[in-house]
Amino acid sequence: MAFYHTTPLRFKCTQCSQCCYGGKYAYVRTNPKEIERIIDYMGIDSECFKNDYLVKLVDHGYGIRMKRNLSQTLTKKKGHCILLNKEGKCSVYPVRPTQCRTYPFWPEILISEDKWNKEGVRCEGINQGDVIEIDDIEEQKQRSINADIVINE
Ligand code: SF4
Repeated sequence: MAFYHTTPLRFKCTQCSQCCYGGKYAYVRTNPKEIERIIDYMGIDSECFKNDYLVKLVDHGYGIRMKRNLSQTLTKKKGHCILLNKEGKCSVYPVRPTQCRTYPFWPEILISEDKWNKEGVRCEGINQGDVIEIDDIEEQKQRSINADIVINE
């Protein structure tokens, strides 16, 4: 049984944007339907978007690129999502990918209480706010797993 069935999880997003920074991740996973919605939202040419903002993954999926500023380049850090604006906020928030919507309820974070708490170093919303219902956690987790095929509502 997953640990969060016996240990209540609390979470409240503060919109600090730290989850938009790479950490160990080199891209933000997305899918063709989400890409279409982002292109429409940005009003950008689709070829330009694909060339400038996307990486093709080895499993034929798509990822939104990470961008590095000078200090991140110098320290060889992975940088942040290229879609963050100058204020450090998501520029496509209403149409953001499922991967972003379902964070931090990803399987690799929910694998143990230790992983969940360690992710709290990155995400200040972890262990804050109200307890999240188990059904909600399971739903977010499943949506994250199906991110390549799920179309956002
Ligand atoms: S790191 Fe956590 S608290 Fe900050 S924006 Fe992301 S989900 Fe919200």
